[in-house]
Amino acid sequence: MSELRGVGIGLGVAQGPVARMAEPLPAPADTASTRDAEEERARARESVSAVARELEKRGAQAGGAARDVLEAQSMMAEDPALLQEVDARIAQGKTAEYAVFDAFASFREQLTAMGGYLGERAADLDDVAQRVIAHLQGVPAPGVPDPGHPFVLVARDLAPADTALLDLDKVLALVTSDGGPTSHTAILAREKAIVAVVGAAGATELANGETVIVDAAAGVVVTDPSAEDLARAQHRADARASAASAPITPGALADGTLVPLLANLGKPEGAEEAVALGAEGVGLFRTEFLFLSSNSAPTVDQQRETYTRLLEAFPGKKVVVRVLDAGADKPLAFLNDAHEDNPALGLRGLRALRASEDILREQLTALAQADAATDADVWVMAPMVSTVEEARYFTELARDYDLKMAGIMVEVPSIALMADKALAVADFASIGTNDLTQYTLAADRLLGSVAAFQDPWHPAVLRLIREVGQAGRANGKPVGICGEAAADPLLAVVLVGLGASTLSMAPTALADVRASLLTQTLDDAQRIAEAALTADDAAGARLAAQQAATRQKETQQ
Ligand code: PEP
Ligand code: MG
Repeated sequence: MSELRGVGIGLGVAQGPVARMAEPLPAPADTASTRDAEEERARARESVSAVARELEKRGAQAGGAARDVLEAQSMMAEDPALLQEVDARIAQGKTAEYAVFDAFASFREQLTAMGGYLGERAADLDDVAQRVIAHLQGVPAPGVPDPGHPFVLVARDLAPADTALLDLDKVLALVTSDGGPTSHTAILAREKAIVAVVGAAGATELANGETVIVDAAAGVVVTDPSAEDLARAQHRADARASAASAPITPGALADGTLVPLLANLGKPEGAEEAVALGAEGVGLFRTEFLFLSSNSAPTVDQQRETYTRLLEAFPGKKVVVRVLDAGADKPLAFLNDAHEDNPALGLRGLRALRASEDILREQLTALAQADAATDADVWVMAPMVSTVEEARYFTELARDYDLKMAGIMVEVPSIALMADKALAVADFASIGTNDLTQYTLAADRLLGSVAAFQDPWHPAVLRLIREVGQAGRANGKPVGICGEAAADPLLAVVLVGLGASTLSMAPTALADVRASLLTQTLDDAQRIAEAALTADDAAGARLAAQQAATRQKETQQ
């Protein structure tokens, strides 16, 4: 057997034969058109509009997040600036096919140069171009294969139009060679709980029909697996299936210690599913997701309406709302559109809000109004806090708006190390392990080439979390976790052992974490955490925790 490394989405494991997505259409030749410009323009318009309507139709059929994505793609197809570029090329005597190809390619370059979230939209643009060119040529758009049996779909990157209507009875797993953890393939795979590994560069070598194991939890694709590998993978898949169908109970350890399991949400629309999956509240509401495509700051009324809809879904339950976290992977032009060479180290998070305090005050106003109008237990927190002075600033400001629980995210090592002081002023801490890992290991969370460093199991990250856990206990203040680490079932046990009192995650991960917590007591969790802390590196910590967890179970039997 051998392994291809990528970024796993979710915790699943699946196995099956590969079916590859058709290669993209060849680039149209740059030859002079034999039609007049008017005719070429009409052809281009007709194909663009047919593709836009088709994308809208697929969106309406798919619903949910897919609908938003496909509607955005349909708007991309008819973007006036893009159509002007197409027309300009046709006016120079190019064919409609070449004009579309070349105009989209130049837009793609601009998007890629922007990097981050916008850079990852480049694949969406490619897909629209391919569909328009296929329509112009009268050939089918490249799409998902149908080998007539269930399969592991392997592609460079999947377009939203393809993922939206995937037949989940046939697609066992997804593997892409391009795309990162925030590509649409990843977002939709997460939403539909499809086992997926993205950005596995070696996937281009996988052949149709060969059997692979897709292990999302480990972020690997196993090629040429032995019978034993296949049996082990099947055993894990069966265990997950039984966790998913287990009764939904409040999050708790084996000794009955409660560990409320909360949801990470980006839109109120996700609330219903989160509640259905047993979320006991919201541990992180990412408000910036609502405004990623806005050029101007959201109004108080707009925000109040959105927050109210969210809070109404959680009567009597805790809902932690994070004020806008702008910058780096989540650009918000209305908060900071200056060019920065290192945006992850720049004017982001609370720093950007403080520089535009009116926007922060408006957000707190809207949240306080929504809080007053509903029965949820509202907590508010600030992202990217790096000093005790910032913790004090935010906590005092939130109190001015009558918000009762004001906390800080711990995502920067400096504030983890100062947690005893920071928690003397803030009401609670919520550890964002995605950024905390990025900053502790100095590894850009969006960069595939340093993905191996982006591992929250690293003992350096765990030591910082222990620091915050101890500070929470000393000050009598709650410490939650809201980064992806909380969704890893074994790491979730370690985090509780280090002092976390709540865990917040993508709702699809709740069942696995609930089942895992029930296997260990608080004493066990502390011992397992101790074992992980003494390792040299992330792999060692994971192994030490696995061994300690197994030992606990053996001694109990
Ligand atoms: C984190 O950094 O872990 C976190 C929860 O915030 P985000 O992923 O939105 O940056
Ligand atoms: Mg963060």
